[in-house]
Parts: sequence; C-alpha cells; structure tokens
Amino acid sequence: MKNKKLNVVHVWKQLEDLVVPRLHLSVHDRAVYSHLLRRSRLEGRLELRFSILWLARGACVSGWAARKAVRRLVAKGALRLAERSRAGHVVKVRLPEEIRSVGAGKIAACAAVRVPSVVNGGDLEMADFLETRALRPAIHAREGGRCFYCLRRLTPMVRCLDHVVPRVRGGRNGYRNLVSSCAVCNSQKRERRAEDFLRWLCREGRLSAGELSGRFRALARLAAGKLRPALPSPSQRDREKGR
Ligand SMILES: [Zn+2]
Repeated sequence: MKNKKLNVVHVWKQLEDLVVPRLHLSVHDRAVYSHLLRRSRLEGRLELRFSILWLARGACVSGWAARKAVRRLVAKGALRLAERSRAGHVVKVRLPEEIRSVGAGKIAACAAVRVPSVVNGGDLEMADFLETRALRPAIHAREGGRCFYCLRRLTPMVRCLDHVVPRVRGGRNGYRNLVSSCAVCNSQKRERRAEDFLRWLCREGRLSAGELSGRFRALARLAAGKLRPALPSPSQRDREKGR
C-alpha cells in the first residue's frame, strides 16, 4: 500500500475540526496522536515502531499518560496496533479520513467537491470519470438510465461503468471511453471490441437491427467527444456521495 501524497493543511483541519471533537480526545490523546501522525504519515510512513519512553518525551507527557493514550487511540480506531513487545509498539497511524468513527464518508464528500473543481476549470478531456467517484453519476445520467449496449433500463443497484476500449487495450477513464452498463453486459463484453459485442447482442436477439445501427452511431459520437456528460453541481455531488 502506497502512502499517498498528503494535503497537510487538510489533514490538520480534519484533526482539529473532526477527530478531536468526534473521538472526544483528551489533551494527552491529542498530543500523542499528533506526535505519531507527524512521525509516520507526514514522513511518508504507514507504520511506526516506537517505545513508550520515546513517545512520552516527544509528546511531552508522562510514560503512564502516553501508554494510556495509545490504548485509547487504538480503541477509538485512530491507531491500529500491529505489534506490542518489550521492544516497543508497532502501530499503523490512521489519517483522520481513515478513522471510521470520525465519519470518513462526510470527509470524502468534502474532498470530492474539491476534485471536480479542477474539471470545472475546463479540462474535461483529462478528467478521470472512474477514479473520481463524484463524477461517475455523470456518465450514468448521460445514458439516461439505460445500459449503453443492450438499452436495458438500469437501477443504481445493477449499473456499472464499462470501458468501451478495454483497459488492457489502452482504454482510458475519460468520458469518451466510459459508458453506463448493466452488470450482464459488463461481464459478457469482457475484452471484446464494442462493435463486436453489439453485433453479438443483436444475434442473441437482445438488440433489433435498428437498435444496432443506433448503437453504432452512439459509439461514433462517443469517440468523437460528442457525448459530453453534464457535470453535477457541488450540491448534487454531496447527495450522490451520501447515498
Ligand atoms: Zn446491458
């Protein structure tokens, strides 16, 4: 697991605004968590090995207070204890957004609002509609709630995003290569070319000849960048994230 590049200002704000009040951190807990976070995640390390004496000195608390604080932070999910021995503790220090009881969904929603602001700046072609969760609904909405391939009506429970040109063939995560698909088409298409898959659907009787031509036209329009998704407003993105 790679330690992603951190937005330290964001982490610090989350610590003050969310972690401390929601986990009811005492002054000692807070000093210990801050110190461990500083020495692990802010240095690019996921795990940290330390002795209680080292921690007590660093956080300016007594050894007894440091030990108690570590126990409480483990119980509250801010730390994950990997090892404890005479040599010391090994813990994984969780970032504020990784602590379940802090309400990661809400924090992630805040982050999601920021990411698409880059997209709103105009660089739609570079936007990643798969990895940026808040952008995924825009692709589903563009297809009008139907599977791009078989035209079956979709519900949020059965829909997924499918790569027209599979990733193994160099297909990207942009709006020109992602379509809303039912789970059946998604699993049956696999690494086939979209045109071949559509013909197969027609042979299977799941598309009429007229629908097949319509799908070919849609494919051409998609590749030409003519099927641009409407980006959701920040409030819509919040609602999507909350689902
Ligand atoms: Zn389908």
